[in-house]
Amino acid sequence: MTIRLQDTMSGETRPLEPLEAGHVRIYSCGPTVYGPVHIGNFRSFLYADVLVRYLRYRGLRVTWVMNITDVDDKIIRGAAAAGVGIGELADRWRERFLADAAALRMTRPDILPRATEHIDDMVRLIETLLANGHAYRTDDGSIFFRIASWPAYGRLAHLDPEQMRVGERVEADEYAKDDVRDFALWKGPKNGEPSWDTAIGTGRPGWHIECSAMSMKHLGESFDIHTGGVDLIFPHHEDEIAQSEAATGKPFVRTWLHCAHLQMSGAKMAKSTGNIARVGEVLEMGVDARALRYALIAVHYRGQLNYTSDSLAAAAAAVDRLDALVAALAAYREDRPDDPTLPEALAAARTAFDAAMDDDLNVSAALAAVFDLVRELNRRIDGRALSTADASTAIAWFRTTDTVLGVLPDEDDDLEPELRALLDDRIAARAARDFAASDRLRDELAARGIAVEDTRDGQRWRRLVEAGRG
Ligand SMILES: [Zn+2]
Repeated sequence: MTIRLQDTMSGETRPLEPLEAGHVRIYSCGPTVYGPVHIGNFRSFLYADVLVRYLRYRGLRVTWVMNITDVDDKIIRGAAAAGVGIGELADRWRERFLADAAALRMTRPDILPRATEHIDDMVRLIETLLANGHAYRTDDGSIFFRIASWPAYGRLAHLDPEQMRVGERVEADEYAKDDVRDFALWKGPKNGEPSWDTAIGTGRPGWHIECSAMSMKHLGESFDIHTGGVDLIFPHHEDEIAQSEAATGKPFVRTWLHCAHLQMSGAKMAKSTGNIARVGEVLEMGVDARALRYALIAVHYRGQLNYTSDSLAAAAAAVDRLDALVAALAAYREDRPDDPTLPEALAAARTAFDAAMDDDLNVSAALAAVFDLVRELNRRIDGRALSTADASTAIAWFRTTDTVLGVLPDEDDDLEPELRALLDDRIAARAARDFAASDRLRDELAARGIAVEDTRDGQRWRRLVEAGRG
């Protein structure tokens, strides 16, 4: 089996062949830390997370780098408005980003480089581009990349360079550029803006150069996979390619992966636009973090994902079905011979899951394989066809699969002692045939987020997966 990925530049779905056998090097454009990160950005981060998790699950070594943009126009404006330095503002929102990422169970990238800690690397790259004629200075101390010097420009976005209009964040007339298409590598000093004194002059880096400098520093001049949202294809990634390859003369990235925008719709969501799009607010509304994660990863990354209260509810229901099965398997006790057909059923589900993920991370097809198995196992539990050992084997299948999906409860999810006491009280009430007390305890547990079921294997509990209140 081979893992195949669809490269945005060529449009082809090709086998993943890492430059270094067995080791995949991945760079993801990370957040600009000037405020809370929108869940649409988290769709982009979480598909990269699923990619990293899947490659590791398949036994590959992965080095994953995600940059933190801690100097840019939005941060400078935000810091000025808040009356703090850019470092303080960036620190605050970087911490919040990491907390949101942890809540959504995003694997922590191996390296999270910050732009302001890599100014020297950017300066060296710009010096090379000045020396080889791909960059030029303007009177205000800025330095631009000369697009006319790079005929391959537009290859990723499939644009004709002659037809291209200015797409840069900087206004065309703000700096005296030779050509409106040229983009800033370095911005000359301005009053009230942070600046660095460097070998190429005083000023601050442009946004695009940071990703070239940091990716090549940590992953080498050529690396395997670069991810981002489709909105970054042009001009950001196009500029990264031009400045990197013009400086090194080597191919920059082997495979470009881009995820589609998150569509937000639905009456409930629209009512509270503004607040509801941030991870913290979504969780404060009572949405389970695992349900939000599931909603953001369950659709193929290039496919349209509609984020609505309905899609969240469907995600919560799916996570709850997985929880319920794992809880049922954990409680299952049957003294009988092992089910001879179980190994085959588990192996078939494994093959179907891997085949779907190998096919350009087709998560929705992989989840279909998971839920086929859920149905199959529920049938076998109801028919008491499994042995106690079979149930453990089946749990192990889901735990292994969850190293990719990241949605099951933690394995050491211990109940809080007071909830455990309520469960024990309920067992005692049922033993005494005090069903009024047993029902009251069930309601109290439900109000505290615990679902209780009575089964042949005894009382079983799981945490409720909520899709939000109201
Ligand atoms: Zn970037």
